[in-house]
Amino acid sequence: MECINCKSKNIGQISQNHYYCWNCFVEMHREQDVFHIHEVDLDGSLLPLNDLFSEDERRVQ
Ligand SMILES: [Zn+2]
Repeated sequence: MECINCKSKNIGQISQNHYYCWNCFVEMHREQDVFHIHEVDLDGSLLPLNDLFSEDERRVQ
């Protein structure tokens, strides 16, 4: 897979449905066939980025 945000393939898998982009520091959480995207802030809090992408863009290929 590639990062939905920056298209990098530098993706780490945190758990079964949970991915992390080492390039743009975005966390992707897969729920059924759609990814939910958060940016991880420096203090560890999650900022939702779902609004930046259409549901089609977030759909699992
Ligand atoms: Zn990325």
